[in-house]
Amino acid sequence: MERILVSACLMGRKVRYDGAAKTSGDALLAVWREEGRLIPFCPEVEGGLPVPRPAAEIEGGAGGPAVLAGAARVLTAQGDDVTGAFLAGAQAALAVARSFDVKVAILKEGSPSCGSLTVYDGTFRGNRTPGHGVTTALLELHGIAVFGEERIADAAARLREIEAFPRPGAGSGDGS
Ligand code: SF4
Repeated sequence: MERILVSACLMGRKVRYDGAAKTSGDALLAVWREEGRLIPFCPEVEGGLPVPRPAAEIEGGAGGPAVLAGAARVLTAQGDDVTGAFLAGAQAALAVARSFDVKVAILKEGSPSCGSLTVYDGTFRGNRTPGHGVTTALLELHGIAVFGEERIADAAARLREIEAFPRPGAGSGDGS
């Protein structure tokens, strides 16, 4: 059975910067939870940040790939550099995903860690711009497909494809 990495805040865990959750009521998530597929994970908490914590955005709205490349930082509104924690959280997410041979993740849209279509633009004015969060960028770099909570049907379609046509050697833990 394919496992799915999922943002912990979507599963009702109060791990967001403001101490709240963003619980998803999606029926598919409920089914997958019952099946034991879901691996709830919060990259920012696992990267060492507290709850609550100051909101943070990627400078210039550059997106996760630029952070991974060392070309952009993740900053709080006060200008504190939290890039290291975001990178550590992304690496921790990748390690967990690999340990369960995860191929599909469902992560909270818009987050500087978890966004897969949009991130905030670095101005702290609530403006979004197209881009990936830091964890999403790292997971996708390693072949893991990331979908936001509005694209769970797409995630389900990908999962069906994977389960219908498993890769040769899938499950052997080759880590590629
Ligand atoms: Fe949710 Fe991801 Fe933010 Fe954690 S880092 S609170 S899982 S959106």
